Amino acid sequence: MAKNSSTLNSHDSHAVADTLAAAQDSSLADVAANGHGDEHYPSRQHFPSVTSAMQNPPDATQLAGGSVHRASAYSVAQSQLTRVAAVMGLDNDMINYLRMPRRELVVHFPVVMDDESVRMFTGFRVHHNTTLGPTKGGIRYHPNVDLDECRALAMWMSWKCALMNLPYGGAKGGVIVDPKAMSQDELRRLTRRYATEITPFIGPEIDIPAPDVGTNAQIMAWIMDTYSMHKGYSVPAVITGKPIGVGGTVGREYATGLGVTYVTRSLLKRKLGLQIEDATVAVQGFGNVGSWTARTMHERGAHVVAVSDVGGGVYNSRGLDPRHLRAYATETGSVMGYPGAETLTNEELLELDVDILVPAALEGQITAENADKIRARVIAEGANGPTTPEADEILNDKGVMIIPDILCNAGGVVVSYFEWVQDLQAFFWDEGEIRHQMERKLLDNLDEVLAVTLRTNQDLRTAAYTIAIGRIIEAVKLRGIYP
Ligand code: NAD
Repeated sequence: MAKNSSTLNSHDSHAVADTLAAAQDSSLADVAANGHGDEHYPSRQHFPSVTSAMQNPPDATQLAGGSVHRASAYSVAQSQLTRVAAVMGLDNDMINYLRMPRRELVVHFPVVMDDESVRMFTGFRVHHNTTLGPTKGGIRYHPNVDLDECRALAMWMSWKCALMNLPYGGAKGGVIVDPKAMSQDELRRLTRRYATEITPFIGPEIDIPAPDVGTNAQIMAWIMDTYSMHKGYSVPAVITGKPIGVGGTVGREYATGLGVTYVTRSLLKRKLGLQIEDATVAVQGFGNVGSWTARTMHERGAHVVAVSDVGGGVYNSRGLDPRHLRAYATETGSVMGYPGAETLTNEELLELDVDILVPAALEGQITAENADKIRARVIAEGANGPTTPEADEILNDKGVMIIPDILCNAGGVVVSYFEWVQDLQAFFWDEGEIRHQMERKLLDNLDEVLAVTLRTNQDLRTAAYTIAIGRIIEAVKLRGIYP
């Protein structure tokens, strides 16, 4: 199994050395430990604040996603499925089966706050499909988390895992909370109680969570510890994205961003004849996915001209240095105010005249309202579900190449899978091996997607969905519908 970084091409070998060196850089080590910027969520206040949510627990309509979100992520996910099912000629029985999550858990639980008051929180965990194996998917801490969003994200995880040929179904979970408004102690108590509430629902052979928006490696360590305390022995394989010291894997921290770069670089060259070093890039969202995408693209010569976070964006036509920017954002809490750059809004960033636009924040960012104004040649979906089906249509008509989330950002779940395998075997791989295996898995599956696009003239999303859903259906047929 052991291979080393000599299996990488020379450009990537430099990037490996760069990343290893950076791991010793204390500001970046901080980023790795803390994971996320210090953002607030002023523009996403559709759901009641934590306190009011506790006083008025969400009703069934709200929990189902009802009228709370401007665009229901679940209805977007369902309409994507319906569209692809029509292309694939699926029968209604199969469509109805795939539309529904298998299991949903809603928990309301108390947490003792630092001032000794007790607050109630609401959390979720959804398992979409378990035909291919246990479920896999992130845990999100955000004020706007709801059951609807978890259902959508769980469904997308099913497609992503199937597309990557991983032995998993899709899951997602989260807690309605603004983690930046809590102390570390409060966050630890909330995490341990949420982990306890969902314990019957998770496990190495049931459902293996991972980080997502608002959660990080430390939170994964608390969940691993809580689950292990209940079992009476250490169970590192219950969760991925853990710190390396408790069974995490090298490479997980940057895997999603590096995977976005691998897939985008390959498609740029093969479909547009463009080298990554000649490309300009704008990145929306500067958390785990956005910052590592910006950095790994920059390390390969791309010109990252704009990045943003929830507070707004910064722009420099000569290019930004994502590493310095990350250090600045970690220190100040935002990219805003970065010296030597102009400011711009998130809307302006999406409309920049760049080669590659990377939405790496939240779902529903590119819609029928702004799709016409997008000038990028390529949209590399770092986030899950950033583009609505209506926007897809407009952009496809304009000839914009959209690299769909289930392909573009799959590096994270691929390396999470490697982490789970290593934990189960108690045998750990080196960084060169992880990178080599991740790149191979992404690019092999990209080849399959491209082959379908050539054979059928479909866009990349339709082709990726066709392969993923086809793999699940094949397994359903082989297993049969129980009993
Ligand atoms: P994160 O919490 O680390 O970062 C989110 C970033 O988005 C922050 O910089 C935040 O300020 C910014 N943001 C939030 N709301 C915004 C808004 N309205 N406009 C602009 N920026 C906004 O989260 P993450 O882990 O980087 O995840 C980002 C996206 O990538 C999500 O869609 C997530 O589901 C997806 N994803 C994450 C992973 C992973 O490994 N973490 C893997 C695959 C996909």
